[in-house]
Amino acid sequence: VLRLEAVRKSFGGTLVLRDVDLEVAPHTVTALIGASGSGKSTLLRCVNLLEEIDDGAVFLDGDEITDPRTDADLVRRRIGVVFQAYNLFPHMTVLENVTLAPRRVHRAGKERARERALELLARLGLQDKADAYPDRLSGGQQQRVAIVRALAVEPRLLLLDEITAALDPELVGEVLAVVRDLKDQGMTMVIATHEMGFAREVADQVCFLDGGAVLERGTPEEVFGEPRRARTQAFLARVL
Ligand code: ATP
Ligand code: MG
Repeated sequence: VLRLEAVRKSFGGTLVLRDVDLEVAPHTVTALIGASGSGKSTLLRCVNLLEEIDDGAVFLDGDEITDPRTDADLVRRRIGVVFQAYNLFPHMTVLENVTLAPRRVHRAGKERARERALELLARLGLQDKADAYPDRLSGGQQQRVAIVRALAVEPRLLLLDEITAALDPELVGEVLAVVRDLKDQGMTMVIATHEMGFAREVADQVCFLDGGAVLERGTPEEVFGEPRRARTQAFLARVL
């Protein structure tokens, strides 16, 4: 689904991604782990074309999306994104938040967008919240709405950036459960996370980023169980 080839990105002379290679197979979950500032969010932003890369290439379903001639809007219709801060529009109801993008992006009929939105809300246990405003929802509910919104455009790929970081601990579980369900339904996902236990449980592939480079990658058993690099070991010793 997704392939990064030698992706390089710097901000004002500082290299933030150093020749990152990454391959994401269909229906798999890739967890990006690493210290704060290691480049996880930047990597996701480059995939979604929110940042322009300096060198290398990103392919989505075989198309080079970093080609300057690519229509970024078209690419973003194929990639759903959820960030740490849920960024729902406060003046819109849940249903309006969720149907905004499909109505605009896909020019889907209003009725079709509404039906699909209600179906997704129900799947994530939010069926009775369609007409509520975001400030009436808990953080976990808001984050689930943000996930529904990302799914509403029927993306090929879902990027999740620290989606539980802003939540109270007792709300983390309900959001992680949604990610687990999406995995079971075959959604391809790339997840930046500080939740090591969750990464270990849900990921097919774990990438440890260090100073913008993929220092180690493998199955959760390999990376968590038998990390080969001293820096990976040191990181895991700190966070586990
Ligand atoms: P965290 O775990 O804290 O979310 P991260 O792994 O997501 O960290 P990034 O946000 O990708 O890290 O940041 C990587 C580096 O790039 C950091 O040194 C950061 O300061 C820098 N950086 C990120 N965005 C910008 C920007 N827009 N301008 C300048 N520097 C930036
Ligand atoms: Mg980040």
